[in-house]
Parts: sequence; structure tokens; C-alpha cells
Amino acid sequence: QKANIGVVGMAVMGKNLALNIESRGYTVGIYNRTAEKTETVMKDHSDKKLVPSYSVEDFVKSLETPRRILIMVKAGKATDAVIDELLPLLDKGDVLIDGGNTNFHDTMARNARLDKSGINFIGMGVSGGELGALHGPSLMPGGQKSAYDLVAPILEKIAAKAEDGKPCVAYIGPNGAGHYVKMVHNGIEYGDEQLIDESYDILRRVAGIDVDELSNIFKEWNKGELNSYLIDITGDILSRKDDLGSGKPIVDLILDEGANKGTGKWSSEDALALGVPQSVITESVYARFISMLKDERVAASKVLPKPSLTVDFDKKELVEKVREALYFGKVMSYAQGFEQLRFASEEYDWDLKFGQLAQIWREGCIIRAQFLQNITDAFEKDPKLTNLLLDPYFTDIAKKYQDSAREVVALATKVGIPVPTLSAAIAYYDSYRTEVLPANLLQAQRDYFGAHTYKRVDRPGTFHYPWYKEQ
Ligand code: NDP
Repeated sequence: QKANIGVVGMAVMGKNLALNIESRGYTVGIYNRTAEKTETVMKDHSDKKLVPSYSVEDFVKSLETPRRILIMVKAGKATDAVIDELLPLLDKGDVLIDGGNTNFHDTMARNARLDKSGINFIGMGVSGGELGALHGPSLMPGGQKSAYDLVAPILEKIAAKAEDGKPCVAYIGPNGAGHYVKMVHNGIEYGDEQLIDESYDILRRVAGIDVDELSNIFKEWNKGELNSYLIDITGDILSRKDDLGSGKPIVDLILDEGANKGTGKWSSEDALALGVPQSVITESVYARFISMLKDERVAASKVLPKPSLTVDFDKKELVEKVREALYFGKVMSYAQGFEQLRFASEEYDWDLKFGQLAQIWREGCIIRAQFLQNITDAFEKDPKLTNLLLDPYFTDIAKKYQDSAREVVALATKVGIPVPTLSAAIAYYDSYRTEVLPANLLQAQRDYFGAHTYKRVDRPGTFHYPWYKEQ
């Protein structure tokens, strides 16, 4: 019997997705460049409907047509190497799916190249890590719609299911749309994490709350409007003690250098390329960068003085204010993320369905959260909504929580605790709601030194001021 679908790449993600697909009643062909990995999978899962191959030729032959092949290898050169090996063996109408964390520019180029040979190419964002891959990820596939239809039944079966039973997968759009959406998802994830980390830092270092109590605070927050995977795991993390036996909280033993694999940075890079303000996510990328300068920070901490201001607060009230500030920051971050998606949809001609994106993030992925339903609702009410903040639910959050956000940022700033994403959130909110920004002076400066011209508020046209003429 031929396999219904093939998976290339038997590292953790490919293996788990293959097992997930198999568990839904499909026969899965598997292949990995290094044979041992395939052998290990077969040894560990000999009872499963898996068809192993040890050459690309045999692998392609093992699949029913039109072939559906999911590539789960290291993103970049490895993806091209796999495609180049497969290509001569494929027939027109076959579907290749790249589920790696691929840059959307690469996906657009591959889609165009393969399309010329009649091969369909889907770039699919996969979120949820290795457990998600096994039990139900959130999937963001982009490419030819007709190709999506050929794989949709399988993807819908393996994807996570939201509370209303809907699968966390949908056709995102042509060529690189799926990988783009995954990239912005990862950017949003960076923002969420940094906002949480800043909240933790304030409560710990300003309010002096110990880790056990903090764990309970996050667990409590998770019962309300902040309910989400990241708040949930934060509550759990803070309750965990050293696994090597010192008895200390594990967070206190983890080195404060924030690593990254690049997707958050890509998201910021494209926001810059598109000219869309996405400061909360970008500040979270910078926060990781500055954290990596550990040696410099340690040296600077001995030289650069602290502020000499003092603050006064009620601990219980501060906890609630930080919760409100965190939610306010989250709303600004998502408003920016969705604004980026709107710009991208126009620039790359993708016709993204914003409400649907929030819908497929409700389960399976790292940013899964109760409040995504509010985003779906907002775009369902008004598919052309320019900015989430203009939806009544989000306007109301801004109204209710902005003062807490301001107080928390002021307090942290007074005592010298860095809150880059919380401050960026407030700056964005204030810029966005300001009718007249000081860009009038900026335009005058540009015109002064570079004759860049400006527009006037009282008449149409383009003007240049005679700056160098005596008045
Ligand atoms: P890795 O990213 O560690 O990649 C290892 C796999 O790539 C192995 O199967 C390896 O084969 C294969 N490979 C590497 N170079 C080549 C090459 N030149 N030719 C053919 N195959 C090659 O595996 P993961 O399972 O962690 O991730 C797979 C993909 O999924 C990546 O793109 C990753 O970014 C993405 N992803 C990962 C998530 C995670 O949580 N880990 C979450 C979502 C997406 P060999 O055994 O022969 O070396």
C-alpha cells in the first residue's frame, strides 16, 4: 500500500508530525538524510503505519499521487538541498510543504521557482514546539489554494482544536503568506514574553515579592482576562526549584542571557521595510540583544550609578496595576502586529483574513490566549478595521488600563528598572492618539538642511521655505 503522505526529516519536529498524521488514520512515508534516524523511529514505533525509505527514489515511489510531501528539516540550505533532490523525481501537480521556520522571502522565491515546473509549494508555519507537533499544532499554510485543498483534510485532522471544535489551521494566502504570519506570530510571542518578564521584574525588584508569591500571582492572573499559555507556564516556572538539589528557585540559577533564533528579528526587519510602527516587538528583540551583553552589563553595573529617586506604593495595589499594565502592553503589541499584517497583506497582495489568524492561534501555539477571541470578534464585526485599538473592546481596555500602565512605567523608571516594551506600548498609544505630532518641526528641519520640502496644513501643494534668506 502506498503512503498517503511523506515526511522528510526525522528530527523531533518531523518525527512528531509524522506520528500525529499516522494517529489520524493515514499511512506515512518517512525519510531522513541520515538513515539511523529513520531506523530509530521504526524501532520505537514498529506498530505504526509508517513506510520507511532509505533513498529519495524509494521515498518518492512509496507515495500515492499526487504526492504530498512535508519537509521538516533545518531551514535554509537544507530545505533547498531536499527540494533539489526531490524535484527530478516529482510529477506535475505534486505538493511540497515546507514546515520549517523559513524566511518568507525564501518561500516566495521557492514557490515561484517550483511553480514553473508545475510543482505546488506550500510554506507552512508550524507553532507549538515538539509537543504541539505530536498532539496538535497551530498551522499556517500559504501557497497555491488548489494545493492547499489537496492537503487540507490531513492538516485539519492533525491541527489543534479550539474550544468551539474548530481546527487551528486555515488557508492563509499565496506564496509566502503562511511563513510571514508565522514570523509575526513569533514576533508577537517575543513581545508577550518580554512584557511578562518586565512585570515579573517590577514586582520582584520594586515590590520585593518573593518567587513563591509571584508564582501564585501569575496563577491567579491566569484565571482572568490574561489567561494564556505564557502566563500559565510562567506561574509554573516560578514555582519550580533547582533540579540539581540546591533548593533555590530555578529562575535564580538560570543565566540572564536571552537567546533567539531570528524570527522575531525578521518580523522587526520587515516592519521597518514596510514602514509600519512595530515598536513593542522590536523592543523585545533589543531586550534580548542587550541581555546578551552580560559581561559589559556586569562591568557597567559597577560604574554607572543608580537613580537616587524613591517611590511609594501599596503592594497589593501595585500588583493589580502591573496586571493592568501588562494587559495594556499586550493590547498595544497585538495592535501593532496586526497593523504589520495589514501592511504586508497589501504590499505582497495576500488578502489576509485577520480574524481567521487570531482564530487559528487560539490553541496549539505559544501565544494561545483567551483574548485572541476578542481579536477574532473585532475583525468579524469589521473586516476592514484599520487598528485593533479602534474596536470598542480594545478602546475600553486602553481607557481602563492606561493610567496603571503609566504609573507602573513611571515607578520602574524612577528606580531604574528597564521596562522597554511597557514604555514602547505607552509611547505607541500616545503617538497613535495624538492629532498633531512634532513631525511639523521635523519637516522644517529636513527642509532647512536638505531642501526636502514640506506640505502645509492650510493649502495644497509642496513647499520649500527660503531658510537662508534674511527676514
Ligand atoms: P532541526 O532544525 O534540528 O533539523 C534537523 C533535520 O534537518 C534533520 O532531519 C537533518 O537530517 C536535516 N538536515 C539538515 N541538513 C540537511 C541537509 N543538508 N539535507 C537534508 N537534510 C538535512 O530539526 P527540528 O525537528 O528541530 O526542526 C525542523 C524544522 O522545523 C526547522 O526548520 C525548525 O526551525 C522548524 N520548527 C521547529 C520547532 C521546534 O520547536 N523545534 C517549532 C516549529 C518549527 P540529518 O539527520 O541527516 O542531519
